[in-house]
Amino acid sequence: MSLELDGVERAYGDATALRGIDLTVRDGEFFTLVGPSGCGKTTTLRCIAGLEAPDAGAVRFDGTDVSGVPPEKRNVGVVFQEYALFPTMTVRENVAYGLQFDPPEGGSVDTRVDEMLALVDLGEMGERNPDALSGGQRQRVALARALAPAPDVLLLDEPLSALDARLRDELRLELKRVQRELGVTTVYVTHDQAEALAVSDRLAVLHDGRVEQDGEPESVYESP
Ligand code: ADP
Ligand code: ADP
Repeated sequence: MSLELDGVERAYGDATALRGIDLTVRDGEFFTLVGPSGCGKTTTLRCIAGLEAPDAGAVRFDGTDVSGVPPEKRNVGVVFQEYALFPTMTVRENVAYGLQFDPPEGGSVDTRVDEMLALVDLGEMGERNPDALSGGQRQRVALARALAPAPDVLLLDEPLSALDARLRDELRLELKRVQRELGVTTVYVTHDQAEALAVSDRLAVLHDGRVEQDGEPESVYESP
């Protein structure tokens, strides 16, 4: 699935978050939005997910304008900074949650959950509760849950930022491996340039609600 944002604008009262975002994410690509706090990264993700409606401009999935398509119909998986897991459900139940509305084609929910837990190396943890897991393991559960319904697009909003440096490195490699394995079109948000350099196929640097530069990491960070 390719994504296109064409002149996307969004304001909250007097605060203008997006001043005309233009970008293209290619099918299967790991694309990063990087820039300081307040530059519009989360708002851009929310416009892609359908959680915000642009005031102007268009968001297109494979060339089709998705304005008016609600979030649950966009086939998008999302992982946030804070693990939004259900604390009273087991790991398995958390991963299965999204499948109740969207059962897997030609397989059982249990089989799908097993596959997802294996994918993120949590095969042994299914019966635990999230509070018995480390921060890194919880983010793996969040990733497994987001991927279980086989989304066309994966949106990751600072998914590593609550982790310590060692876990962050470990989970970054894990994210990259899983993304490659599934080939899912991914938009990753971070304020950390080193992070963006390490993971991205291509990236966009946002500044004050606009795309300042975009391209492959080497070209963006070597230009003046
Ligand atoms: P980033 O993700 O890069 O930190 P955001 O997209 O969260 O940036 O925010 C961009 C700008 O829009 C900021 O100035 C922020 O305070 C403002 N903003 C975002 N969401 C809201 C909101 N719901 N209400 C008011 N202002 C908002
Ligand atoms: P991040 O820095 O990770 O982008 P924020 O803390 O800026 O996240 O925003 C988290 C949530 O709060 C988002 O849903 C955003 O829309 C909302 N938000 C951000 N800034 C404001 C604001 N000034 N007023 C109200 N809501 C805001």
